[in-house]
Amino acid sequence: MKNLFIVLHLVLSSTGLIPARAQSRNQPSKLHMYVFDVGDIKVFDISNWSPGVDVGKSSKFACPAYLIRHPKGDLMWDTGLSDDLANSPEGTTNSLFTAKLPRKLSEQLQEIGVDPRGVDYLAVSHRHSDHIGNANLFLNATLIVQQEEYTALFEGDKVLSLVDSLKSNKAIKLTGDLDVFGDGTVIIKRAPGHTAGHQTLFVDLPETGPVVLSGDLYHFAKNRRIGGVPSFNYNKEMTLRSMELMEEFIKNKGAILWIQHDPDQKKTIPLSPNIVR
Ligand SMILES: [Zn+2]
Repeated sequence: MKNLFIVLHLVLSSTGLIPARAQSRNQPSKLHMYVFDVGDIKVFDISNWSPGVDVGKSSKFACPAYLIRHPKGDLMWDTGLSDDLANSPEGTTNSLFTAKLPRKLSEQLQEIGVDPRGVDYLAVSHRHSDHIGNANLFLNATLIVQQEEYTALFEGDKVLSLVDSLKSNKAIKLTGDLDVFGDGTVIIKRAPGHTAGHQTLFVDLPETGPVVLSGDLYHFAKNRRIGGVPSFNYNKEMTLRSMELMEEFIKNKGAILWIQHDPDQKKTIPLSPNIVR
């Protein structure tokens, strides 16, 4: 029986059905996820994210990152604010917000015994710096992004320093959805509008149930309720269409939407080193 397993494993390995790095590491028998707190952003006027509503009110955004551990491999979803920010306790300020990072993502990965160089896939919701801050840690990952986002990140005159170590990485460039491990449990959903190649992630967890990670399709619960579209989005009509399709998808799947930047929802989600099963 053991020999049969070895033969089968070799056959599957050589046909590429088992990712190369997953073979050399202990993959879990069941899908689960870690949620990392990778900084927060105090915005001075929330109405920039929801035009005409709550003008002049400040608010705080969470900046999470997620490691999805599947029996066939590991997928990192978004990477939060850059670890470099942790070196300035007062954070960084511009005309819109102050961003701070109390604890580096690299330290949080180390705490759970994960070497970012061994993570198989890196997918980001979009190219803004609060989502790609630590992308360079995932040196061997295959990138999974929409074609428009890949072009903006890597094919312009100058590659952003936040991703410049990944220029030669393998990349799956999408113009739609992707069932990452082929069993329907981890699906990247194209949802353009915030940027031209924005995407979200569906994860069907065995105990928590189906969850959608929003990227920046929505920024907080109130702008989901009122359909608020940030004034700086790439395309408003495209965003509203993506919202409509997402609401339909969520309903069909019976999924919960985790709005990544929502500070109140963050308090309800167990953070790493806890495991979300
Ligand atoms: Zn964001």
